Amino acid sequence: MTEPVPSTAPPTPHPHPSPLATAHAQLANAVKILGYDEGLHHMLASSRREIDVAVPLRRDDGRTELFRGYRVQHNISRGPGKGGLRYASSVDRNEVRALAMWMTWKCAVVELPYGGAKGGVTIDPRQYSQTELERVTRRYTSEIMPMIGPERDIMAPDMGTNEQTMAWVMDTYSVNKGYTIQAVVTGKPLSMGGSLGRATATSRGIVHSTRAALADAGVLLSEVRVAVQGFGKVGSHAARFFAEAGAKVLAVSDQYGGVFAPAGLDIAALLAHVDTTGSVVGFAGGDPIDNTALLGLDVDVLVPAAVEGVLDEETAASVKARWVVEGANGPTTEAGDRVLAERGIVVVPDILANAGGVIVSYFEWVQGAQAYWWTEREIEERLEHRMLTAYAAVSQTARADGLTLRDAALTIGVRRVAEAHQIRGLYP
Ligand code: GLU
Repeated sequence: MTEPVPSTAPPTPHPHPSPLATAHAQLANAVKILGYDEGLHHMLASSRREIDVAVPLRRDDGRTELFRGYRVQHNISRGPGKGGLRYASSVDRNEVRALAMWMTWKCAVVELPYGGAKGGVTIDPRQYSQTELERVTRRYTSEIMPMIGPERDIMAPDMGTNEQTMAWVMDTYSVNKGYTIQAVVTGKPLSMGGSLGRATATSRGIVHSTRAALADAGVLLSEVRVAVQGFGKVGSHAARFFAEAGAKVLAVSDQYGGVFAPAGLDIAALLAHVDTTGSVVGFAGGDPIDNTALLGLDVDVLVPAAVEGVLDEETAASVKARWVVEGANGPTTEAGDRVLAERGIVVVPDILANAGGVIVSYFEWVQGAQAYWWTEREIEERLEHRMLTAYAAVSQTARADGLTLRDAALTIGVRRVAEAHQIRGLYP
């Protein structure tokens, strides 16, 4: 047998500070506002369970490569762990820890009966064939089997994974258990227990929370100009829904570059371009713009919907938008957040703005448990209701306590988790 060679590059380093530093700084703020003691702070800051596994892959050409895989359950006081599975070269244990922590607060702030978890494999999925990705997914699933399950920890798609990945996870888990267990994942294909509206849920939720934030200032969606960074599963649908709601989408970008049209982009034509070329770059209906310049565009609403840490002290100082709606998880660093707050820019935080995805994941899990599927309309209405209810609670707390929307959302989420922890008590 050939020796496995660790031929994959080490994780791409994160811009400083790391997502985990950002997550910890946010929690520290919330703990300070809530007046919790050090013991409770430590409990809230630490992962409940973590697993770090080797994921060897036999390449299509017979060579062997080794990847690292992780699953972190940050907190399970309010229910099973819930959170996506990420395939990216940036994945490392600390990134997964941060993402798992954000899932905990997100599920709590939108009142889902879940804790927070996240998984990841340090792999750039674009460099591997479908059959290779299938083997990676099945091996990773087998390695983390003891940690997951419909009542333990439920996966979903995240960056670099999709409904096909979820089908492989579900199949591997089921084959090993001896019967079909669909509820171990959400974001499944419709043909095997998925939910209508799941694929577009995060983006719809972003538009709902934007509409609500604008309404606080008496502004309508149809009056605003928007820029969206990231044109993947979240950003592309968000751009489309913004345009459908009458907003002008001036600029979008993906990892290769961006396009900008002062009079607004034709999103339907842009989506057709991306379908054929795989990128927004080269779209004839706009001028090129890079990812950093997009953040500083003269727009009303900026939606960072790509990766963590893009709004730091420097880029936050260049933002001209009045509202930043976080489609990505952790796009703003602690220093960036301070700059935005000082400049009076309203940030609708990730744990609220992008919660639509996990809300419809919850609907999928509930529908599966009942073996009864709702109509798309029911799902859309329930999603909107949950998003608007959560937004109203956060906005009300922010006003009453003089907090930013981020600190208000965090204090609500953190308090719910702390209360569950305290009412359950410590064992033994
Ligand atoms: N990956 C998505 C998120 O970051 C969805 C997670 C889920 O549906 O469990 O919120």
